[in-house]
Amino acid sequence: NHRLIGLTGGIGTGKTTVANYLANAYKLPIFDADIYAREAVQPGSSILNNIAERYGADILAASGALNRQQLGNIIFNNPQEKYWLEQQIHPYVRDRFVEAIERLPLNSTAVLVVPLLFEANMTDLVTEIWVVFVDEQQQLNRLIERDELTLAQAKARINSQMSLQEKCNKADVVLDNSSTLEALLKQVDAAIKA
Ligand code: ATP
Repeated sequence: NHRLIGLTGGIGTGKTTVANYLANAYKLPIFDADIYAREAVQPGSSILNNIAERYGADILAASGALNRQQLGNIIFNNPQEKYWLEQQIHPYVRDRFVEAIERLPLNSTAVLVVPLLFEANMTDLVTEIWVVFVDEQQQLNRLIERDELTLAQAKARINSQMSLQEKCNKADVVLDNSSTLEALLKQVDAAIKA
């Protein structure tokens, strides 16, 4: 009988900002797909071994760690390889979420931060879906600022994802983060109390 909030959105729309607030203000446990996905490819993991087998040992740094930038270059313009990689990582991430949920005390509220909630078909793990939205101009501004990207790079990253509008259409709650942080957190307060 848990309340499991699936928090998603587009790149740089404010998922981390909302998750940090829910952790601090409401003391909710936060489970993060990005952390599990990084764990999936730790040195010695079977998934990293599969990756090195497929792309060659050059995909590893001298330390044995995955060279993420190189892997990113391989998959960025290659949907088939992107698919292969996701089939390696998504089941691992799902298993970690299932384990984390199983460890919750009865009748808990918890937050699952899942950037690819829809794309990886993980909506069945949660009981409600919150999408953090920003208008595209703000999304570009914040990405350029935070990640020191050019306009073209920021646009390429946004356009490589499922459209944010499509995600909003599938949401139970849309948090509009186009304005101030205060305005965002007010919406979070309302959503958590709903
Ligand atoms: P990613 O998809 O890259 O993990 P994210 O969805 O977790 O990103 P955040 O990191 O929370 O997004 O926010 C993106 C950037 O925008 C951060 O630098 C954050 O500080 C800034 N930001 C978030 N909300 C606001 C706001 N309302 N006003 C100004 N800046 C904001």
